[in-house]
Amino acid sequence: MAKRRCADISTLDELFNTLIQKRTVLAKNAGFENYRDYKFKQMGRFDYTKESCFEFHEAVEQHIVPLVKKIQQQKLDTMGKTIFSPWDTAVNAEGKAPLKPFQSGQEMLNGTIAVFEKINPEFASFLKTMEKMKHLDLESKPGKAPGGYNYPLYETGAPFIFMNAVGSQGDLSTMIHEGGHAIHSFLTHDLELTAFKSFPSEIAELASMSMELLSMDYWNEFYDETDDLQRAKKEQLQGTITILALDRAN
Ligand SMILES: [Zn+2]
Repeated sequence: MAKRRCADISTLDELFNTLIQKRTVLAKNAGFENYRDYKFKQMGRFDYTKESCFEFHEAVEQHIVPLVKKIQQQKLDTMGKTIFSPWDTAVNAEGKAPLKPFQSGQEMLNGTIAVFEKINPEFASFLKTMEKMKHLDLESKPGKAPGGYNYPLYETGAPFIFMNAVGSQGDLSTMIHEGGHAIHSFLTHDLELTAFKSFPSEIAELASMSMELLSMDYWNEFYDETDDLQRAKKEQLQGTITILALDRAN
């Protein structure tokens, strides 16, 4: 893959340079000094400034990057390597098989409802409503588009969740994440204007990514073995920490 991409390096670089030039012209035509300032205005960002972003970057550099380096060093030591190859980053350092917290989509759903019940019974009731309304399409099947998301439906207030579960810990994490978005959809249904329910991702992902962390104490619904439970929690936390130090996140 890397080789194929490298074959077009200069074309891609040129494309990117042209893109930056065009965007700069666009911003200047609209009376802004640069594209960043234009984009802040265009996206309606009034609750934080570019300075807030710089401060956030500094905080990540100061507090998160050393932690990520420690996590990566531990992984290298376990693998007996001094430098990562591209294929090393997503594997278990001890060479263990992937975690398998559930078999079927129904089992994943029942477990997630049980987990939500322990956090707040109302959260569980939202998922039950979605199940009753057939608003859940959870399992992977041939021909199904990839991806996972919660999609709000403004008329009823009950969203739907689409995903491609095959039994992995990543799927469980996705179910809980989308469940967090779903709770957000239900709880904002009464807002007067539909536009108020279209949140920027900083707000939307607060509900979903917090849910991943809030639910961790109850993951024993999915794991009997303490070792697997510890591993699932550790991988979740390491992933959450590491994503802050990456220059892009989903
Ligand atoms: Zn999300």
